[in-house]
Amino acid sequence: MTAHCGTLYVISAPSGAGKTSLVAALLERDPRLRVSVSHTTRASRPGEVDGTNYHFVSQDVFVEMIGQGAFLEHAEVFGNYYGTSQLWVNEQLALDRDVILEIDWQGAQQVRRLRPDCVSIFIAPPSLAELRLRLERRGQDNADVIDRRMREATAECSHHGEYDYLVLNDHFEDALADLLAIARAERARTESQQVRHPELIRGLLSPG
Ligand code: 5GP
Repeated sequence: MTAHCGTLYVISAPSGAGKTSLVAALLERDPRLRVSVSHTTRASRPGEVDGTNYHFVSQDVFVEMIGQGAFLEHAEVFGNYYGTSQLWVNEQLALDRDVILEIDWQGAQQVRRLRPDCVSIFIAPPSLAELRLRLERRGQDNADVIDRRMREATAECSHHGEYDYLVLNDHFEDALADLLAIARAERARTESQQVRHPELIRGLLSPG
């Protein structure tokens, strides 16, 4: 593997915890971050744009891509397939960009196995009652769908202990500040700085 200094972030959260809004705000505030656009077999929702929210592909294409080894990780989530492009992630990391993967706990487990140097973050709502309130306020889903999402949320939350960081999204600005702090601290890690600034370090070690 080529030496890279970009950090690979894995971010998971139950639906309604605010992950997508937090990641959008994070990208606005930190120009070195990029977010991976996943491939999925699920149908696009109103307002979603192919190539921006997801790369929407058929099941046949998805299976073919698995065979070609195109995915860093892939998983079946709620009856649809989702996967992360291996090539894109590697290219971005090689360019010293930090890459965010917004993926579920199954994908997170695969990435941790393949890239033990990744940094994983779980975003949790302050309570299940608050999560239900947010889903209801969003007005996208009927009562049955909300009940299903709540069950799925509990399943996703049961994996929170596998993540390096647990960010509580009670107040949006506080959660965003936590995420920015994590990105900043990870960038200052000695091994990252050594790859990023080899000349500077050499200079520090050779007097005269
Ligand atoms: P949605 O269909 O609501 O956009 O996403 C459903 C779930 O799929 C979310 O938990 C999201 O994090 C997860 N997901 C989105 N893209 C990927 C991916 O590339 N890989 C995996 N493993 N999960 C993904």
